[in-house]
Amino acid sequence: MLVDLHCHLEGRVRPSTAAELAAAGGVPEPEGGWERAIRLDGPADLTVYLAKVASTYPFFRSIDATRRIAREAVEDAAAAGLDYLELRFGPATHAEDEAGIDAVIQAVVDGMREASDDTGMPSGAVVAALRHHDEVTNLAVARAAARWAGAGVVGFDLAGDELLFPALAPHRRAFDLARAAGLGITCHAAEAAPGAAAREAVEVLGATRIGHGAHILADADVLRFIAGEAIVVEICPTSNWYTGAIADIAQHPAPAFRDAGVRLALGDDNPMQTGSDLSGERAVLRDQLGFSPSDLHALDRTSVDAAFLDPSTRTALSAKLDSSSAA
Ligand SMILES: [Zn+2]
Repeated sequence: MLVDLHCHLEGRVRPSTAAELAAAGGVPEPEGGWERAIRLDGPADLTVYLAKVASTYPFFRSIDATRRIAREAVEDAAAAGLDYLELRFGPATHAEDEAGIDAVIQAVVDGMREASDDTGMPSGAVVAALRHHDEVTNLAVARAAARWAGAGVVGFDLAGDELLFPALAPHRRAFDLARAAGLGITCHAAEAAPGAAAREAVEVLGATRIGHGAHILADADVLRFIAGEAIVVEICPTSNWYTGAIADIAQHPAPAFRDAGVRLALGDDNPMQTGSDLSGERAVLRDQLGFSPSDLHALDRTSVDAAFLDPSTRTALSAKLDSSSAA
């Protein structure tokens, strides 16, 4: 089963679409073309990685382009055989005010719904607040996300530079508001910062899922806490390697998390940048990190349980998983 619980819309822009949108909008072609501007050649560091993702940001200034990118992201995921996709994005990066934030969310939700209707693959949008944005901006993002709760938006996230902006308390009210609106809560944490950041995301923001969490392993107390509280860690191995969070793919903590009883789900983070989509990440788990068929089945079960899904879609996915394991 292919359930993608950690993927960024900004990291799913087709290079061919970028080229078309740029030509139509008078954006100059980068040296070497869009493919090269978007994709990484191999492992780098977080700055280089994020610059590649940010190369697509100009396109999100157009509502029509945003809707198209969201639609194509879901179409591509369905074509790749995914059973469910959660797509996260930071609307305040692409807007000036709350009305603009709302318009970006609407464009994403509309594009995703169109593609889900056409392909039959369910999808859900996760709105991300950003660490470098101030409390007022992230409250506006949370209010806008809350207005779309139950209408395409399923979750709320915190993304951005963890080392420069480690404080979570300024974002607490935004997360309280999002949670009260019924949105699922996830948070990028312990990707660049030490493991304690993951515990703080749970205690301060109410996260039930942690994005990456690569450094949790280095802190035995936090590891016990994450396992004991049944927090789900959304692992994205190739992304962690390409950002330099781990030195080598073989050093990814996924096997140690599994052995410690941490609940795991899988994501491909920014597949256009890494060149590895969800099937590629699953192959990494199986071929390079020693995940057995039963380990992968446990991950699938956790993914279906932890997805920010409506009850009927969860029941359908769960039945699909049962029948695939019975086959
Ligand atoms: Zn991410």
